[in-house]
Amino acid sequence: MVSWVRGKCIGRGSFGTVNVAVDRFNGDVFAVKSVDRNAALCHHMPAIQVECLENEIRILRSLSSPYIVKYLGDDVSYESPTTSSSCRNLYLEYLPGGNVSDLATTLNAYADENTLRSHTYCIVSALKYLHSRNIVHCDVKGKNVLVGPNSSFVKLADFGAAGEATVSDTRGVKILPRGSPLWMAPEVVRGESQGPESDVWSLGCTIIEMVTGKPAWEDFGANTLSRIGFSDELPRFPTQLSELGRDFLDKCLRREPGERWSCDQLLKHPFLQSVSPSDANTVAESSPRCVLDWVNSEFEEEGTSDDEKLEASARERMGKLAGSSGAIWEPNGWVAVRGGDDEVVEGGTRRQYLNSVSSSASTEGGRGGIGGGDERNGHLQNENV
Ligand code: ATP
Repeated sequence: MVSWVRGKCIGRGSFGTVNVAVDRFNGDVFAVKSVDRNAALCHHMPAIQVECLENEIRILRSLSSPYIVKYLGDDVSYESPTTSSSCRNLYLEYLPGGNVSDLATTLNAYADENTLRSHTYCIVSALKYLHSRNIVHCDVKGKNVLVGPNSSFVKLADFGAAGEATVSDTRGVKILPRGSPLWMAPEVVRGESQGPESDVWSLGCTIIEMVTGKPAWEDFGANTLSRIGFSDELPRFPTQLSELGRDFLDKCLRREPGERWSCDQLLKHPFLQSVSPSDANTVAESSPRCVLDWVNSEFEEEGTSDDEKLEASARERMGKLAGSSGAIWEPNGWVAVRGGDDEVVEGGTRRQYLNSVSSSASTEGGRGGIGGGDERNGHLQNENV
C-alpha cells in the first residue's frame, strides 16, 4: 500500500533533498528530508550525509518547542518497486514561508524592524530552549530559520550539526568545528570550543544577514576565516539598524565567549521587549497540516483565487485520495512512496519487526532506529501492514 506521495522539491542542501509530501490517507501535508542511501554507498563520502540525518533525527525526536520545526517521524522508504534503492527519511512539519535568508534578499522584509524583532525573538527563544537542554545548534544562519504560514513567526531548523557543547582537551587537541564558516564564532574557527555562546555569536551574524541580505563577513576564503578567528575585528553593524538593535548586536558579537549575553539575558533586552510572547505563541501552532489548510500553487488551479473554489478543489482532491483508485499525482511531479516493505520479516510482520526495532532503539537511547514509535511512523506502519 502506498501511504504518502512525494511532491515538489523545496530545498536541496549538502545532505540531500527536502520535498513537500502529502499523506494519502488523511491529506496531511508535511516536509520530508531524505538521503538516498544507495547513492551514499556508491559515492562513499555521503555516508556523512546519512550520519548528519541520523544525528538530526536523534536530536529533533527529543525536542518539543513552538520555536523549533516539529519532528513528525522517520523511516526508510523504497522509491521504486523494481530497484532496491532506498531513502532514509525525516518527516517534519511543513513551513511554507521559505527561509529568512531568502526573505531578506528577495523581499527586504527586515526593513521593517518590527519583523526583525519578532523573528529574533523566536530564534532566541528556540536557542534558550536548546541551551537549557545542553544542546548547541552549531549552524544558526538565515537559511536554517524557516517562516511559518503566519510570516511574523519563524522556527529554527536543520539540526544536522547540532550536539552537546565541545571543548578542546587539555593537551590542546582541537575540536572539529561544525557549521557554516561565515557564521562561526572566533573560538570555533580556532578549534577551541563550541558551546551555547557560539550559537549567540552566530545569532548576531544572522541578524546582520537579515538586515543587509548578505552574510556578516565578505567571503574571501581562508583570509576571512583568519579575520574571524585571529583578528580583533567584528563584523560591521548595519547603519540602518536602530540604536537598540545595535546594542543587542553588541551583546551577541563579543569576541570573548564569556562576555556574550546568554539567551535568557537577550530575551530581556529592550530590543525584544516590545515583542509579546503571547502574540508569538498564538501563531506558533498554525502550520498547515492538511491539504485543506494549505493554500499553495501545488494545489491551485486557474481561476481559483477565491477561497471557496480553492477549498472545493482541495476537497475534491481529498476525495480522490481517500478513494480506492487514488488521485493521479504523477503528472504534477508527485511520486508515490512505499513507506517500507510489507512482507513478512523474521517470522513476523514488518510491523512486529519495526516494533521490536523500535523498543530496542528506545532502550539504546532511541538513536537511528527505523520506526521510532512516533506519531508519523505509527501511522505509516499501520497503513503498510
Ligand atoms: P545546509 O546545506 O545549509 O546544511 P541542509 O542541507 O541541512 O542545509 P536544511 O537547511 O534542513 O538542509 O533544508 C534546506 C532547505 O529546505 C531550507 O533552507 C528550506 O528552504 C527547505 N526546508 C527544510 N525543511 C523544511 C520544512 N520543514 N518546511 C519547509 N521547507 C523546508
